[in-house]
Amino acid sequence: MLHVIIDFHTHIFPPQVRENREEYLRRDATFEEMYGSPRAKIATMEELLRSMDEAGVDVSVALGFAWSDHDDCVRHNDYLLEAAESSGGRIVPFCNVNLLAGEAAREVERCARGGARGLGELRPDSQGWSLDGEAGDTLAEVALLHGLILLFHVTEPVGHEYPGKRGLRLDSFYRFLERAAGVSVVGAHLAGGLPFYTSMPKAGRALSAIHVDTAALRYLYEPSVLSGVASASGGLGADRLLFGSDFPLVGQSAALSDIRASGLDDATLRSVSGGNAGRLLRIDAAPSR
Ligand SMILES: [Zn+2]
Repeated sequence: MLHVIIDFHTHIFPPQVRENREEYLRRDATFEEMYGSPRAKIATMEELLRSMDEAGVDVSVALGFAWSDHDDCVRHNDYLLEAAESSGGRIVPFCNVNLLAGEAAREVERCARGGARGLGELRPDSQGWSLDGEAGDTLAEVALLHGLILLFHVTEPVGHEYPGKRGLRLDSFYRFLERAAGVSVVGAHLAGGLPFYTSMPKAGRALSAIHVDTAALRYLYEPSVLSGVASASGGLGADRLLFGSDFPLVGQSAALSDIRASGLDDATLRSVSGGNAGRLLRIDAAPSR
């Protein structure tokens, strides 16, 4: 079987968000924080598909944005579902909702029926709700009910500041893992450093099923960190690490080169660059281009 390359962490926006960027900057504080700089790129599905062709990526997970307004989430979800539908399986949609909205659970159901495979990139703290509270329970319930994967932005409690750093506190994420047994969870950006606690016997249990992605790796860690995370002793194991670029913040070709030069052995590299994601998403063959 041909090896399928899967990028688990990309961002695309409806063209009208880019065209009316100023208006969206005014009405959404998180969007303002992350896309206030004119240098912060906003990509559409066409640009993602072109990038995938150039980088040799077969499938990309396209993530929604954690808008605070429910209708903004719905419009973005529509775009992701349509993009996925017209891509012939090359784009896998993860939708987004604000759990503070009364219609959130119904919107999740609509997205699941429309082909969404997960929810993300979830940023509870940015949207003003706590993963520790009732909303966290609702999220776990709807994920189990519809078989959806949850992908969270997780904040490193240490290190430099950057736009969008604060999305979900690491301790809050950890408590969710402890009580959300059976839910498929991906912690973005190496889950804010959570894998480094695997050797802590009492913390290790909550980490026994989590996956982490490598999104924006070059801005956060030395590439050699991946060998430790993929190690069976003291790390999560080779089967729990997912390649993610954070396109368009990082180009897919560049992100793939980083992973390939990180010192992982060939078998682990195959798992990370697509094997693990394929198992999680139940994709076993590359869709035709
Ligand atoms: Zn993120």
